[in-house]
Amino acid sequence: MNEKEKIIVEINVSPKGLHIEHPTCSKGHSLKCDKVKIHNFPSIKVKAKTNDEEGFMYLDPIYGSFDNIIEGMKIPDGVIVELFCPECDESLTISGENCKICSAPMFVFHLPNNSIVEGCLRKGCMFHELKIVNADQQLARLFEERMLL
Ligand SMILES: [Zn+2]
Ligand SMILES: [Zn+2]
Repeated sequence: MNEKEKIIVEINVSPKGLHIEHPTCSKGHSLKCDKVKIHNFPSIKVKAKTNDEEGFMYLDPIYGSFDNIIEGMKIPDGVIVELFCPECDESLTISGENCKICSAPMFVFHLPNNSIVEGCLRKGCMFHELKIVNADQQLARLFEERMLL
C-alpha cells in the first residue's frame, strides 16, 4: 500500500455541526439504529459490558454531544465500558490507542471512505476524535456538508 494514502489528519470540529451517519464495525455491520432517535437522528446502537453488567447503549450521533441512552444496565461515571457490535459481537475497542486525557482504552467506529471516529471508553470522560483518511477529498466534503446546515 502507498504510504501517502495512509496519512491520517486529526481535526477539531465544533460541537453539534456534524452527525455520524453511517457508523459500522470493522466488518461493515451498520450500527445505525432508526428505531431510537437522539436529537432527531438515528442513534448508534452497541452492546455494552462492564465488569458487572451487560446491556445496550444508544449513542448520540451528533459529534460533540453525549446524550446517550443506556438500556438494561447502570454505568457509574468513571467506569470503563467495553462496546461490541450487536450483530457479530466484535469488540469495538481499538488496540494500541489510549485516551489522551485519562488513558482509558478507546473505541472505534468505521465510517464510509476509511474514516474513523474514536472515543474514550470511560463513562464521563467524553474525549473523542474524528480521523479522516484521504484528507483532501474528505475535508472538502465535510466543509461542503457543514455549509448546508
Ligand atoms: Zn459486526
Ligand atoms: Zn478518557
